Amino acid sequence: MSAPAPKSVLNESKQIERAAMLIEMGARMQVLESETSLSYERLIRLYKEVAGRSPSKGQLPFSTDWFLTWQENIHSSLFLNIHQYLSKGASLDSAELLTRAYRLYSEQVAALELEPLLSFTRAWRLVKFFEAEMLARTACSDCGGLFVTEPYESRHYVCGLCNPPARAGKSKSAGALTLH
Ligand SMILES: [Zn+2]
Repeated sequence: MSAPAPKSVLNESKQIERAAMLIEMGARMQVLESETSLSYERLIRLYKEVAGRSPSKGQLPFSTDWFLTWQENIHSSLFLNIHQYLSKGASLDSAELLTRAYRLYSEQVAALELEPLLSFTRAWRLVKFFEAEMLARTACSDCGGLFVTEPYESRHYVCGLCNPPARAGKSKSAGALTLH
């Protein structure tokens, strides 16, 4: 019988596995730095190995606005509802939860023949904003679906599906999504 591997080695391989999974999902460096304990240099090397290219530079803007724009909001709400649903079930760590929720979101959107407006990195950012209570979920007073909103949205909130902006008339894509 060989001695059990030191904890640090086990943890290290778990971190690498997790980083590789996130890279395959299309995560940017800021996600990898947040969700793993590997150094920036190691992440860069791993990224090149897994993705076959260098990671794209630049950060996402640190703003909640994107998630509150009409169609983006519908996609964000769909993703967050899946994420919250999964988080109440099996005990998954944050990276697994994010990955699983994103796969389900992508499948649902693909089934409706829509483009996934929400990237994996944006989905991660959305969860961070939600956990920091910079964004919340509010029930639409009309359809009852839960939507991503500012915290402390009014009770009379009406979602972007029930009350689409005027410019939405020509777009079929958002109407295909329902959240209830
Ligand atoms: Zn509604």
